[in-house]
Amino acid sequence: MATPTPTTATGGCFCGKVRIEYSGEPMTVGLCHCSDCRKITGSLYSYNFVVKRADLKITGSPKELAKIADSGTHIKNYFCADCGTPLYGLRMNSDGVPAETTVLRAGIFDDIEVLNQRRPEAEIFTSGRVSWMSPIEGTGQFVGMVPLP
Ligand SMILES: [Zn+2]
Ligand SMILES: [Zn+2]
Repeated sequence: MATPTPTTATGGCFCGKVRIEYSGEPMTVGLCHCSDCRKITGSLYSYNFVVKRADLKITGSPKELAKIADSGTHIKNYFCADCGTPLYGLRMNSDGVPAETTVLRAGIFDDIEVLNQRRPEAEIFTSGRVSWMSPIEGTGQFVGMVPLP
């Protein structure tokens, strides 16, 4: 199998105070239909690149919000304090240290080509999907969470 070209992309929040540069190979790309994602985005689902924290360069000061997910996992979500755009989320290990992986809200990328090139590999928490939306053809369907690297 050919190695996919790494994604190099820039993105940021609605008001422009937080900018994010990404260069790397997403571990996976997926949609999440859980109720937390609905609230975080104010939309029907989140569309995420699961990336290595080290592959992100963040300019500005995203606001941090800690929450315990329904699964019991400690998560921290980051968003622009001025315009509220959701930017990314971190999963905390039991020792309080963030995991290596970051869940990047992929809608923040400036160039839609970045999104065109990455079809979601998985849809998770499909039981939370609104009834009038169809599953994406060729995308793995999971009622709950998929194990993250
Ligand atoms: Zn902003
Ligand atoms: Zn979710």
